[in-house]
Amino acid sequence: ASQLQRKPDWLRVKLPIGKEYAHVRGLVDEHKLHTICESGNCPNMGECWGAGTATFMILGNICTRSCSFCAVATGRPLAVDLDEPNRVANSIKLMSVKHAVITSVDRDDLKDGGSIIWAETISAIRRESPGTTMETLIPDFKGVWDNLYRVCEERPEVVSHNIETVRRLTKEVRVQAKYDRSMECLKRISEFGLRTKSGIMLGLGETESDVLETMQDLLEAGVHVLTIGQYMQPTKNHHPVIDWVHPDQFAFYKQAGKEMGFKYVESGPLVRSSYHAEKHLFDF
Ligand code: SF4
Ligand code: SF4
Repeated sequence: ASQLQRKPDWLRVKLPIGKEYAHVRGLVDEHKLHTICESGNCPNMGECWGAGTATFMILGNICTRSCSFCAVATGRPLAVDLDEPNRVANSIKLMSVKHAVITSVDRDDLKDGGSIIWAETISAIRRESPGTTMETLIPDFKGVWDNLYRVCEERPEVVSHNIETVRRLTKEVRVQAKYDRSMECLKRISEFGLRTKSGIMLGLGETESDVLETMQDLLEAGVHVLTIGQYMQPTKNHHPVIDWVHPDQFAFYKQAGKEMGFKYVESGPLVRSSYHAEKHLFDF
């Protein structure tokens, strides 16, 4: 295991550079804005912020679930903050975000699953920044599909839900989630007529055939955009990295995904589900 603790060269963090990045950086510092890009210490900030993309999290920062790969705290969440939609919309406006990725913790404690705040956030962003496009990275809403549709009705430009791992590892990696329920969630988004996106992390112990099977399942669920990236262990209490997947293997999945029929595949060691998100606004 000690060997695995050293990251291979291809994962060395990129330096945030560029004028646009510096500009956004200044605004974030000045207004004390909160982004996932920063709190997750994402290696792609230079690139994403430079391209006008940033990720925001809503519904607080305590999750009712406890996925073994995730750095977000688990526990009993605080009461819903009714001002959050306006605050996020305001940050997006101040930062002149062109393409906003919005995500949330899972709120299995709430009857609406957080879908009302979700819908209000999308509409507040539309009101404050009519030119900004959005990707909403949403939970499975525990299979209460009315809550899912409340978000879909706001028609974000891209709706994503991450399958995160292959079928065989789902129970161990996404403790409270279900592989088939996530697939159904994606199918319903796609059938609603929205651009549908999902993501997989590699390095959790999956085999190549596991990955290809999950890719096929996603395609059949109607997913258009697929992201595949390397899992990195946030702390030693999280799921260990079982392997560092070689860039050539990522390239193989990218090619396989294109051949299968996905409209867009991002696959590489540093790919995060919101990486190059602004490029996923294909016509369909
Ligand atoms: Fe932010 Fe996502 Fe880009 Fe990372 S990949 S900088 S989290 S938008
Ligand atoms: Fe993290 Fe999402 Fe799992 Fe919650 S549901 S623990 S935020 S990955």
